[in-house]
Amino acid sequence: MIDLRSDTVTRPSDGMRRAMYEAEVGDDVYGEDPTVNRLQERIADRLGTEAALFVPSGTMANQLCLHVLTAPGDEVILERGAHVFNYESGAAGILSGLQLHPIKGENGLLSPEQVEAAVRPEAVVAPRTRVVSVENTANKAGGVVYPLDRIQRIARTGREHDLHLHLDGARLWNAAAAHDTPERAYAEPFDLTWVALSKGLGAPAGSVLAGPAPLVDDARRARKQFGGGMRQAGILAAAGLYALDHHRPRLAQDHEKARRLAETIAARPAFDLDVDAVETNIIIFEVVDGSAESVVQTLRDEDVHLTVFGPSTVRATTHRDVSMDDVGQAADVIKSHFSD
Ligand SMILES: *Cc1c(COP(=O)(O)O)cnc(C)c1O
Repeated sequence: MIDLRSDTVTRPSDGMRRAMYEAEVGDDVYGEDPTVNRLQERIADRLGTEAALFVPSGTMANQLCLHVLTAPGDEVILERGAHVFNYESGAAGILSGLQLHPIKGENGLLSPEQVEAAVRPEAVVAPRTRVVSVENTANKAGGVVYPLDRIQRIARTGREHDLHLHLDGARLWNAAAAHDTPERAYAEPFDLTWVALSKGLGAPAGSVLAGPAPLVDDARRARKQFGGGMRQAGILAAAGLYALDHHRPRLAQDHEKARRLAETIAARPAFDLDVDAVETNIIIFEVVDGSAESVVQTLRDEDVHLTVFGPSTVRATTHRDVSMDDVGQAADVIKSHFSD
């Protein structure tokens, strides 16, 4: 099976399992798990923030960030492809009483002008615009990286309107690897940032949110309220620490694999894809004539697994557990069913 459905399908590597087995642990709700504490310090250092907090999932990280930056009734500006808007089961409404204000970006990315235009005027009838939420890389845009200066300009616009800035950094590692830019440069303009350990880095679970200590303290309290306080979580944190040392340095290889596959896909008239738009580990392409479902089914029958991402949209994602050889095989299967 060549599984290109998501970068979440990876299994912990042998070294990672060993690190988990050997992890020193304690009760993290008491703040006494040394491995969790080490991971939090590592991530805070890496992102250039004062503090950090280990949480069970990226969804919880997003929801905690929004929760501590807002009051019920507030509005959050985001791109309409955002994970927060599409894939979190309405959590922002349930957990924080928020209204989301989705904008169709330019090729899936927000611009400062769009943010400016979306800010509500001060009026008794209007919700209060409180947060701009940015996703980097932008999944639905095809793993596209926000240019640093664009993020800085969005942040500046936000600040001018007293907005808070939130970064969904599920794949911030990929952005940093693709542009050989430190993660902290992308995180710097934001009040709260989080990064996933369970996507490109290949850990079995966990994300880490990061920001100033008072906000992280608020998030720790909310994490307990949301049921996310874990006990001997060092078993999981150890996987994250291992991933930072051993998996993060190899992340750019996933981008080379994606590029290779994208070239094959783009060469088929049956599909529409701009190879140059494939910057990281995600390939999103259009089926020109026919349904995404039938293309995915055809490839599934050959044991190559992709994701239906819309009626005529397909996603392929590379990760640690598909080799360049696997990608070559997947490309051959695609070639055998779709002529160039
Ligand atoms: C996967 C993902 C999340 C959520 O992470 P989970 O750990 O699956 O809850 C949030 N944002 C983006 C952009 C993601 O890709």
